[in-house]
Formats: sequence, C-alpha cells, structure tokens
Amino acid sequence: MNSSKKQKLHIGLSTQSVWGGEDQLFLEGATIPPVSFNVAYGYENVEDWYDVATGKKQGHIYSRNTNPTTAILEEKMRLLDNAEACCSFSTGMAAISNTLYTFLTPGKRVISQKDTYGGTSVLFMDFLPARGVDVQLCDTSNFDAFEEAINKGCDVLYLETPTNPTLKIVDIKRLAVAAHAVGALVVVDNTFATPINQQPLALGADLVVYSATKFLGGHADALGGILSGEKKWVEQVFAYREINGAALHPMSAYLILRGLRTLEIRMLRHNDNAECIVRYLSDHPKIAAVFYPGIPTHLNHQIALDQMTGFGGVLSFSPKGDYTNVKKILESLKLVRLAAHLGSVDTIAGPPRTTSHVEASPEQRKKLGIPENLIRYSVGIENAVDLIADLDQALDQV
Ligand SMILES: *Cc1c(COP(=O)(O)O)cnc(C)c1O
Repeated sequence: MNSSKKQKLHIGLSTQSVWGGEDQLFLEGATIPPVSFNVAYGYENVEDWYDVATGKKQGHIYSRNTNPTTAILEEKMRLLDNAEACCSFSTGMAAISNTLYTFLTPGKRVISQKDTYGGTSVLFMDFLPARGVDVQLCDTSNFDAFEEAINKGCDVLYLETPTNPTLKIVDIKRLAVAAHAVGALVVVDNTFATPINQQPLALGADLVVYSATKFLGGHADALGGILSGEKKWVEQVFAYREINGAALHPMSAYLILRGLRTLEIRMLRHNDNAECIVRYLSDHPKIAAVFYPGIPTHLNHQIALDQMTGFGGVLSFSPKGDYTNVKKILESLKLVRLAAHLGSVDTIAGPPRTTSHVEASPEQRKKLGIPENLIRYSVGIENAVDLIADLDQALDQV
C-alpha cells in the first residue's frame, strides 16, 4: 500500500502519469523502475529488520505484503486518483472482492445496481448472501429507488459507471450524498472511465476500484486491480489482502506502469474514435440503436455531461434484423478481435448475448435493457477512418 498526506500539487494528468512515483533514480541510477522479482528482502542485522516490520523504517520484507515495483504503480495511481492511499491487487476482481469482504461482514447491508460487471454480480447474488450479507440491487437508472433503499440504512453503496454493455451512467454525486447521510461507505468501479474521464473521489465516493487489466494497462498483456481512497479505508483492505494473498505480480505491475505512462493520450484517442464511430453508426440505415453516453439521445446524457470529462472507448449498437446479422457483421469485421476483453489499444468486439451475458435468460437480458442483437465494441486507438471503412464493409454484408 502507498499513502501520503503530502501537499497536493496541481499537475496535469499526463505529467502525473509519466512522472508520478518515478521522479527518482532507481538502482545504480536506472531511470526506469527495475522489476523486483524478489520474494524476500534481506537485512544486515535483526534491529533493521525489526524497525521495518514495526513501521519505524521504510522498506520491504516479503512480496506478498509489499514490493518496490508494485509500490511505484500504487504511487502513480494514488496521484492519478488524487487519493490519500492506493493498494494494488492481482486482478480487478481481487480488488473488488477484497474491498467488499473487508467491509461486508455478516449482518451488514450493501446496496448496488442490477447490472454490475459479471463477476461482481456473482458476489452480490451468491457469495455475499451466503456470508450473511443483506444485498439489495436497484435498477441502475432509477435514482429515486436507490435513494429509497439507501434511506432504509446500509453499510456500503457500490456503484459501477459507465455500465457494461449499455453504458448507463449512475449519478455518483446524488447517491453519495444519500449514502453518507446514513453513514455508508461509497465504492465506485471506475474501470470504463479511468481517472482521465471521471474522478469518483472528487464526486463524493470514498473508494474507487479498477480492473487495471483494461484501459489502465491498455495493452491486453497484464491482469491487475487497483483500490484508491482515504487512507483509513485502504489500510483496512490492504490488511485483508495481505492475508487473502491477492498481491499483484511485479511483472504485471511493471507492464501496467508502462501502460499508464500513455494513459491520457490513449484515453483522449479512445474518446475521439468512439465519437467518430458513434456518429457514423447513428446515421446508418441498417442500425437500430447505438448506446454511448456522449450522445444526446442517451438515457443518462445529462449526468454524463456533469460528471465525466470524456465518454470513453466502449460503445454498443444493434443492427436491424435478427441475431444472424450480429454474427455476420462480427465475422466480417477485419480490424476487430472477437475476444472477452475491452480497453486495449486494439479494437475488440463481441455479442453480450452469447458471451458476457450468456448465463442470463432472454427475460433477464430484457430487464437489464440489453437487446438480443447487441454488439459491444471497444474502440482501440487505430485511425478512425480505417475502423469506419471496416464497419462499412461489414454492414454491406447484411
Ligand atoms: C473486467 C472488469 C472487472 C474485473 O477485472 P479482472 O481484472 O478481469 O478481474 C471488474 N469491473 C469491470 C467494470 C470490468 O470491466
């Protein structure tokens, strides 16, 4: 875990993503952080070891607890989130489950939304209830219902915005006020937006979690998770992670650090590309619907304008006709990988019906507002004209 009470400098996010945690020379003057594969750190004498173990001196003892490479990543993310403390995890799900398990002991109550990320939903529907936690899931866009549920009292309010795959936006500011009035902790999954497009802590959240596997790393080559927020809360989760054992591997920390150095320029390009593609698809006669928070016809466009500085690289759309058109379009696209991933430099697409939401029944998908012929499209950083030409030839096939 990395934390600081240092005076916050007003530095741009790109500057921060390049220099944050790296404004120093490393081993023998190295300008780039070494990957410290060490499991354990040796001491010349027992006193020094004792001082590090008791927190009197800075240092590392055992890499399940802390590691110099992961510490640099945590410092960079702490600065990008403008947080007091940050802790890394082996995966996004580890960040989410460790956080929820720390605060949701038996008898506690959590309120969340029906369409969180698939793995998170399983926690809410199976694992947490089995642990004796009272879980209430609200319709993502019904903020009155959220407030009503929160007003009855809860310990944690867990939000995810934008959502997968229809990019709904949750009003963080409004719901955080309601949650704080009943003494609840507010946790936001900011994976889709990243600190570049949305700053949940500034909007009232207490903690922000990420799958670093997606946009933060950005190159589809490392799994990881991040938790940022107030020190007293992050410390509690860190203590649980030390024992739970979900530490981030130093090599993955290095790859995510490398990805983060270009986070802002990548996100700005993802935002621009998505906007170009949304404009193209919205005008296309063979398209029935386009979902993207940046367009005025989107259900939550006004909230998106209020709380986001960019709308992200994920959009979804449904072609007219039935599912055979989805299959034909996806299989005709050349500049797209069909894969269970998003947030990478390359464009990735897939049909939620037979992938992320394959286990939901058609009725459940309908309730979640997911059309049967939806295509989720995670726009990469390629040239938008090429992606549009590719979509054009694929749509010609149907
Ligand atoms: C992928 C994802 C996760 C889980 O992250 P992993 O790194 O795959 O464990 C959590 N939340 C969201 C929004 C995601 O997209």
